[in-house]
Amino acid sequence: LVSREKRSEDTVIDVKGEKIGDGNTHFVMGPCSVESYEQVREVALEMKNQGLQLLRGGAFKPRTSPYDFQGLGVEGLKILRQVADELDMAVVSEITSPENIEVALDYVDIIQIGARNMQNFDLLKTAGSVDRPVWLKRGLSATIEELIYAAEYIHSRGNSQIILCERGIRTYEKATRNTLDISSVPILKKETHLPVAVDVTHSTGRRDLLLPAAKAAIAIGADVVMAEVHPDPATALSDSAQQMDIAQFRDFMKGLQPLLNMN
Ligand code: PEP
Ligand code: MN
Repeated sequence: LVSREKRSEDTVIDVKGEKIGDGNTHFVMGPCSVESYEQVREVALEMKNQGLQLLRGGAFKPRTSPYDFQGLGVEGLKILRQVADELDMAVVSEITSPENIEVALDYVDIIQIGARNMQNFDLLKTAGSVDRPVWLKRGLSATIEELIYAAEYIHSRGNSQIILCERGIRTYEKATRNTLDISSVPILKKETHLPVAVDVTHSTGRRDLLLPAAKAAIAIGADVVMAEVHPDPATALSDSAQQMDIAQFRDFMKGLQPLLNMN
């Protein structure tokens, strides 16, 4: 169902008027984890200044270590919703269990399925049975074909609003946190009719590589660029090494300006 052979036109997903997949570049920005109302609002205000409206933030955090911050849960979703409503923005947030998909419908505009859950088939099926766009991230060691099959699980249950997200894969290379598989973008665009995103934060794990990676993503045809922004990354409860602060976020957007086709 997600194959280009089944449908030649690009799928365009309308999220509060922002048409993902329309040929323009879109941005999903926000903190790694929701920590407080003030923290989310500070990032969201700067996004508004930049003309961006797709606000992300993790409320359910699938952390590698059980001793790391696990997120605020539903409380975090409420904070995102409140800030987004005040500023007329849309919320993207990860949901980690099928039971919480129903809960999420009250708070999120796009349901994120994280890399660690790309093959959580019950989660995929549940997300496939609701009327809400799904942001599907490539698994840590998933092939492109496995990502496409994961999308097929969602689509086959009736939900055709899927955005595929390349977020880096595990390789032997240690200079970056993961290896950004940039060629997956044109392959996914060719093989499927779905919008394709690149997460420059988790793929590189390096603040100094966010801008060049985003340039590459746009140049190679990504529909969406995702990156994490925190008012004070040094004190962030997760991913403190790679989130941008507000000034860096401004420079990041300025650096991308020559490549942008936004409206
Ligand atoms: C995230 O985007 O918040 C996240 C946890 O990323 P990933 O699932 O790609 O590791
Ligand atoms: Mn993160």
